Amino acid sequence: MTVHGLIVNLNNYKVDNKWGEYSLDRGRIALDFKALADEVIKGYGITNEEAMQILECPDEEILELLNSAYIIRKHYYGNEVKLNMIINTKSGACQENCGYCAQSRDSTNPIEKYRMMQKDEIVEGAKRAYQLQSGTYCIVASGRGPTTRELHQVTSAVKEIKEKYDLKICACLGILKPGQAEQLMEAGVDRYNHNINTSENHHDAITTSHSYQDRVGTVGKVKEAGISPCSGVIVGMKETKQDVIQMALALKELDADSIPVNFLHAMEGTLLEGTDELTPVYCLKVLSLFRFINPTKEIRISGGREVNLRSLQPLGLYAANSVFIGDYLTTAGQEGTKDHQMLKDLGFEIDYVGSGRPV
Ligand code: SF4
Repeated sequence: MTVHGLIVNLNNYKVDNKWGEYSLDRGRIALDFKALADEVIKGYGITNEEAMQILECPDEEILELLNSAYIIRKHYYGNEVKLNMIINTKSGACQENCGYCAQSRDSTNPIEKYRMMQKDEIVEGAKRAYQLQSGTYCIVASGRGPTTRELHQVTSAVKEIKEKYDLKICACLGILKPGQAEQLMEAGVDRYNHNINTSENHHDAITTSHSYQDRVGTVGKVKEAGISPCSGVIVGMKETKQDVIQMALALKELDADSIPVNFLHAMEGTLLEGTDELTPVYCLKVLSLFRFINPTKEIRISGGREVNLRSLQPLGLYAANSVFIGDYLTTAGQEGTKDHQMLKDLGFEIDYVGSGRPV
């Protein structure tokens, strides 16, 4: 039995038209996702209960949920998709103990290990980003944070790339020491990524060699230096649904411009090896949740896209408006040409702001 026309009071915002329906069969309030999306566009911040309903909605409601997330995504970004390409400029031998990471001191995964690349190699990678029509080139390095020499190698490469290509540069080099954010800013770095990874509550179950506050502090530092902050999460690390909601709310609080949502691809030899708790439909619910909580932000489907969303990858772009193209840090991604075909098939267009075309 279903009772329609329920009056719902949300944070003193009284909705007197049909907002939801109460299903006695299921004993739950089923949200009208579309009405909620319209309110989000008007500035409404969804409650914890509504967030939980998004994550717990029955799988058969996924298209309704995605359609509502798409209403928000389309309002702010139309049908455009931002492409981002990563270069791993320094791999492995990290002294931190992040449980998901094959580069960590505790991982036995036989990944390729190498020191920070020379400037020319980093500049050469920008050419590949250009060929893939990526708007953003992400320069990433393993480790707790950059040494003075490593920072110099990155900043000198960034200066040269900026002269050659119309690319946005995102750096991801770990925890920054005082003054380093300013040096990156002066070199021309547009964005700095430092993921919160998980909720504050769950952080210590994932790593103990640095704190949640270390991560949040670095996001604050880059923002103060005038660099656009990028910070995201890894879902599927044995966190609760409440942790997932807390991550999305924390990023709203941090006002991260760009939010990469990774889905754990648990690699052999890592502390989280064997963790495989995500379904493609749940990943879509997570992406929708991030869109509802951070409606105006660039939400990027990131690492683990291929193995976790599998055949449902295209549907993710109805909630997210950004993807990585090419390989990830230690795992191979889908061929760039397949991603371009996917966008074409969806009728989406590549966002050409900073398209990588030579200046
Ligand atoms: S995520 Fe970064 S800091 Fe953590 S172990 Fe991997 S490379 Fe080191």
